[in-house]
Amino acid sequence: MIKRFIPSKPLPMIKSTSQISNHQIHHKLVESIPTKRPRFLDTLAQLAPPSVSGSYEAQKQGETLKKRARSKAISRAKALRLVDVNSELKQAYWNTFHCSSVLLQEGKKITAKYCKNRWCDVCNRIRTANLIKGYLVPISELKDKQLVTLTIPNIPAGELPISLSAMSDALSVIRKAFTRRGYPIIGLRKMECTYNPDENNFHPHFHFVIEGIDNANRIVDEWLMQFPEAKRVAQDIRPADNNSVMELFKYFAKTMAKSKKTGQSEFYPEAMDVIFRATKGRRVFQPMGIAKLDVSEDIEELQSQEHEELEAVEMAAWNWNDDALDWVNYTTGECLTQWKPPDKVLGLLEHLMTVSN
Ligand SMILES: [Zn+2]
Repeated sequence: MIKRFIPSKPLPMIKSTSQISNHQIHHKLVESIPTKRPRFLDTLAQLAPPSVSGSYEAQKQGETLKKRARSKAISRAKALRLVDVNSELKQAYWNTFHCSSVLLQEGKKITAKYCKNRWCDVCNRIRTANLIKGYLVPISELKDKQLVTLTIPNIPAGELPISLSAMSDALSVIRKAFTRRGYPIIGLRKMECTYNPDENNFHPHFHFVIEGIDNANRIVDEWLMQFPEAKRVAQDIRPADNNSVMELFKYFAKTMAKSKKTGQSEFYPEAMDVIFRATKGRRVFQPMGIAKLDVSEDIEELQSQEHEELEAVEMAAWNWNDDALDWVNYTTGECLTQWKPPDKVLGLLEHLMTVSN
């Protein structure tokens, strides 16, 4: 069954494309629209029968748009909770609330304006894809890949910024020493910080995929010299497989914190805000002795993507709608992705929107 949006109240109608500039689309987005496009290209595209691989690609891309809708719905609900914290990042959280709320379609191309914030689930899906393009080949070429986790004891909110600096500095000292001694660290480093709701403290840590078990052992030994209060048992070394490598590429994504006491995962806006303020401007990923392929880790504010599965139209504006949980064409009532949220996601959204602090 085709999902359509039936408004319960009158909507801000977009009757013609000439009115789009009055709508909430960023002016730069409007500037990027060519005023004329060759119509025959659309006709050709419609006449061409889809190839087998083409239709597979289209199906896969259909899933991509559905996943984007899922990210958008969850990210938007979280952003609103973060806005309520009223921190210095308030405006940035609003930007995430509005991230890719309007999608502009020309032909099969979708253009959106992104917030580029590292807590945004929509932007992080793009970043993760960019990281995989940039690093998967160099990482998979490493010999004897080891997944190493380095931590310090958990700390209260006020000590997070200084602890993150100390950890980065210590790692820099270790890297230089290892290079000097003739066994440089080769791989990729990721910085993460999680929140422990049971103890109301923070757990900053580094994950690495690096070459060689000897260097993995050395790096832990050296880390414990730098942080004598850190426990050996809290550090971790294990052989890296494809799953752990892919896990590493997930961009700073753990915004839900699990209580060991209750077993429940919860979103803690104040704690997340502490982490986002402390990690602002710090590098999440750092390559060490590997050459990244020429792909930008970051994303452009305005980005366009072709979606083969879409029906080509001259121009359409799709607006995110919180009731439809989809981007809706207000002229036709059509829902763009046809995403049907599973009960689990609906439950999470309901929870995020009703919990008050
Ligand atoms: Zn975003």
